[in-house]
Amino acid sequence: MERTEVIVAGAGPTGLFLAGELALRGVGVTVLDRLPEPDLNIKAGSVNVASAELLDRRGLLPAAEAAQRRFLASVGKFGPTVEAAKRGGRRFLAAGHFAGFLFDNDLIDQSDPVLAAHRAVSNGLGVPQQEVEQMLAEHCAQLGVDVRRGVEVHGVRAGDEAVTVETSAGEFTADWLVAADGGRSVIRKQLGIEFDGTDPEMTGYQAIADFEDASGLRPGWTWTPNGVYAYGPVPGRIFLSRFRKPPQDRDAAVSVEELQEAVRDVTGVPVTITGIHGRATRFTDHTRQARHYRRGRVFLAGDAAHVHSPLGGQGLNLGLGDAANLGWKLAATVRGWAPAGLLDTYETERRPIGAAVLDWTRAQVALLRGDERTEQLRKIVGGELLRVPAAMNRIVALSSGILQHYDVSDTADTAAAPVGSIAGDVELTSGTRLADHAHDGRFVLVDRSPDGRFAVSGLADRLAYVADPADEPSLLVRPDGVIVWASSGDDDQKLLDAALARWAGAK
Ligand SMILES: Cc1cc2nc3c(=O)[nH]c(=O)nc-3n(C[C@H](O)[C@H](O)[C@H](O)COP(=O)(O)OP(=O)(O)OC[C@H]3O[C@@H](n4cnc5c(N)ncnc54)[C@H](O)[C@@H]3O)c2cc1C
Repeated sequence: MERTEVIVAGAGPTGLFLAGELALRGVGVTVLDRLPEPDLNIKAGSVNVASAELLDRRGLLPAAEAAQRRFLASVGKFGPTVEAAKRGGRRFLAAGHFAGFLFDNDLIDQSDPVLAAHRAVSNGLGVPQQEVEQMLAEHCAQLGVDVRRGVEVHGVRAGDEAVTVETSAGEFTADWLVAADGGRSVIRKQLGIEFDGTDPEMTGYQAIADFEDASGLRPGWTWTPNGVYAYGPVPGRIFLSRFRKPPQDRDAAVSVEELQEAVRDVTGVPVTITGIHGRATRFTDHTRQARHYRRGRVFLAGDAAHVHSPLGGQGLNLGLGDAANLGWKLAATVRGWAPAGLLDTYETERRPIGAAVLDWTRAQVALLRGDERTEQLRKIVGGELLRVPAAMNRIVALSSGILQHYDVSDTADTAAAPVGSIAGDVELTSGTRLADHAHDGRFVLVDRSPDGRFAVSGLADRLAYVADPADEPSLLVRPDGVIVWASSGDDDQKLLDAALARWAGAK
C-alpha cells in the first residue's frame, strides 16, 4: 500500500490548484484521476477577477495571459468585439453577463474604489478551462506533484490517524484526503455527507458544432419562449438552456440529433448540425451544496462540495477559491504550525461563499424562464435596473468575485476598511506589486511605516516581510489573498500580534 501526506482525488482545476498549493509548501501530495487523459470537453470559457488574482499571486499570470492571447486568436470574426472589451489601460473592464445581460463597460463608474482596487486583471481572463487545467498541470509538474491518471477511486476508509482510498490501482493511504472529484463525488457519497438543494428545472447544452448554415442564429444572447441561447464567440460555439427536465440517461454522450433537436427547439431556427467537435456538454440547474465541507481527515472542495448551473460562469472560480483557502491551512497543519481551529475555518469561510454563488445562479435561471411574466421581469432588470451605473457596478463586482468577504473580526479592527476582503492590485513604492511577493505562498506583511516598526522575526518560513514606507495602511495578507490586518491607529501592534497568532501560528 502506498502512503503519502495528502491524497487529492480529482485532477480537475480544483484538485490541481490545491495540489500545487500543498507542494509549494513541501507537502507530499498524490493526485488520483480516473481519466487517462485530461477532459477536453468544452466547459468554462473564462476565469473571473478573483481567480485571475489567485493565478497572479502564484506567478501564473503571464502563462494565463498567453493562453488568453491564443483564445483571442481563435475567436475569428468575434475577435474584434472581444478585443475591444479588453482595451482600456487603467480602467476596470468587465467581461461577462448576468442571465444573458452582458456587462456594459460604458456604464461602469470608474471612480468606484472597490473596482479600482482590482484593476490589474480587471476583466478576468478569457481562458478556456482546458487551458487553465493544462497550466495548472504544468505548475504541479514543476513542483513535483505526483499525478496518477487512469486511477479511479471506488471507496474510502477514514480513521482517526489516516485515511485510505480504494482505487482501480490498489489502495493508497494518507494523513489527509481532499475530495475534488467533481459534482458526483464518490467520496462525498460514501461518507454520507448530505447534499442539500433544489432539483433542476432546465437542461442545457454547450458545444462547438458544424452547422450547414448558421446565418439564422444571432450572435450574443437571445431569449426565446423555450429558453435562451448564446452563439459565439468561438465560431460554431452554441450554448443553450431550455426548461425541460434532464433526459433519463444523464451519462449518455450528446448525439448530433439530440443537440440539433434542442437547438431548433430553443432558437426556432431550422438549423442542420453535421458534426460536433469533441464532445458536447449537457448540464442542468441541479443546485446543491454539501452540508459539511469536512468529515474528520477528509475535505470536500470544488464541485464535490457544490453544484449549480453554469449560468454566469462561477463554478471553476468557486473551486479555485476553495483550493486557495484550504491549501495553505492544510499545509500548515501537515507542517505542524497551524494555530488551533485553523482547519475548521475552511468550512466556516467557504461554505457561505458557496451558498451565495448557488443563489446567484438560481436567480439567473429564474430570469431565463420563457413565460410572459418572466419576459416582463427581464425587461425591468435588463432594460431598467442594469442601465443604472451603480447597479452595473454592483453586479459586475459580485460576478467578479471581488466582494468575497471573510469575518476576521476576532483579531482585527474591522473599522480598518480592507480587513476581511481580498487584496487586489496593491502597488508598492518599489515599483513592485503585492502579488509579486506572494509567489512562494507565504503571508505577506507590507510595512508602510516610515521606521519599519512592524517588522517581525522568527516567521520567515511562512511570512514575507516587505518594507514599503508610504502614506497608506500597512497590511497583513494571508496566502490566499485575504487581508487580516491593516494599520489604523493606536492598537496596531496589538492587533497585528493577534492576527499573526490567529492565522500564522506566531507564539
Ligand atoms: C457547459 C459548462 C460551462 C461552464 N462554464 C463555466 C464558466 O464560464 N466559469 C466557471 O467558473 N465555471 C464554469 N463551469 C463550471 C466548471 O466547469 C466546474 O465548476 C469545474 O470544472 C469544477 O472543477 P472541479 O475540479 O471541482 O471538478 P471537475 O472539473 O469535475 O474535476 C473533477 C475531476 O475528478 C475526476 N474524478 C471524478 N470521479 C473520480 C473518481 N471516482 N476517481 C478519480 N477521479 C475522479 C474527474 O475525472 C475530473 O478530472 C461550466 C460548466 C459547464 C458544464
